[in-house]
Amino acid sequence: MKGDSILNCVKLQYALLFGIICVCLPILTANGQTVDQSAYNRLVHSGMDKLKAGDYQAARDHFEQATRYNDTAFDGHMGLGIACYHLRDDANAERELIRATQINPTASLPYQILGELYYRKDDFTTAITNWEKAVKLNPADTGLRARLERIRKEHQTEKDFNREVTTHFLIRYEGREKIEAGKIVLRILEDAYSEVGRGLSYYPSQDISVILYSDAQFQDVTDAPGWTGALYDGKIRIPIGGIEQETPGLRRVLYHEYTHAVVHAITPRIPPTWLNEGLAQYFEGKEINARQKEFLRQLAQAGKLPPLSNLEGSFMGMDSNQAMFAYLLSLSAVRYMIDSYGLYRTKSVLEEIARGADTGRAISSGTMRSYEEFQRGWKQSLE
Ligand SMILES: [Zn+2]
Repeated sequence: MKGDSILNCVKLQYALLFGIICVCLPILTANGQTVDQSAYNRLVHSGMDKLKAGDYQAARDHFEQATRYNDTAFDGHMGLGIACYHLRDDANAERELIRATQINPTASLPYQILGELYYRKDDFTTAITNWEKAVKLNPADTGLRARLERIRKEHQTEKDFNREVTTHFLIRYEGREKIEAGKIVLRILEDAYSEVGRGLSYYPSQDISVILYSDAQFQDVTDAPGWTGALYDGKIRIPIGGIEQETPGLRRVLYHEYTHAVVHAITPRIPPTWLNEGLAQYFEGKEINARQKEFLRQLAQAGKLPPLSNLEGSFMGMDSNQAMFAYLLSLSAVRYMIDSYGLYRTKSVLEEIARGADTGRAISSGTMRSYEEFQRGWKQSLE
């Protein structure tokens, strides 16, 4: 079993983020506005709508235009910083967010997103400094405090880890005895880089962080459910002992988590979990055995196949049996998608999600079938 790809606290923080930024929006009055100010307000509003829809490119365009009408207002720079953050345009995100802190030094949100930005770049010290400022400015925010505590703990665990940087990966692990393990992991990840890259015609432009833990450290840092073997939450985290040679299991885990990293690079928006986990299992080379096929056939014939919409959210809260079932359905649906429409169209479903489409719209533009038709086809393929 593998971990879920979605960092719950990022979602939480994200919900929070809109709460705060919407409060910051100026109340519009028809009177006393210059033409430029009303154009600014309109663009900030539409930028905000695009942000909420997850269409970060359009959001960036709107906020960028807004700052041309008013370069000294908070929301334009803040929104632009958030859009750039999601588009992984780190340099511009950093510049805009710092600008937002200069315009409104009492706002907690820019420091919070700056913290996320530095954390993503593995600059723990600067991330913690920014989160401390955010907490100081917004002490009532318990989610933010919890996030700061978690990152402090992670930093404490990992500060003495060895670091190794290759062309595509940044890997960290503790102790000299893991040097060999680190080399083995990197070698497999480079294979995954080529193979998954070839499959999806996609090679992430940014280094991917990989952290090797002991089992105890992994539980401590991630708080993942017991059935989790590894996870990707923006960084690949794997509990690993002092392995001395490659095993098929390790290869599968790394291909699986690396696929999540590629999916995340293709779509900064969260894709439906069944699609994400199905793709990860597909690239790890997981097969559906005869017993599972028979089980799915019986379900399909009895009309008891759950709708995929039930599997769009996180699997994190599931017990191990539910999770096993959810992963099986995910793999089955994605295999059907790839067999029927090919990897190219499957990837275009992800690209549609990246552009802000919901699952139904992404599937119908990717496969030319509605969500319902797609599921009907999947069910028939199992019967
Ligand atoms: Zn997974």
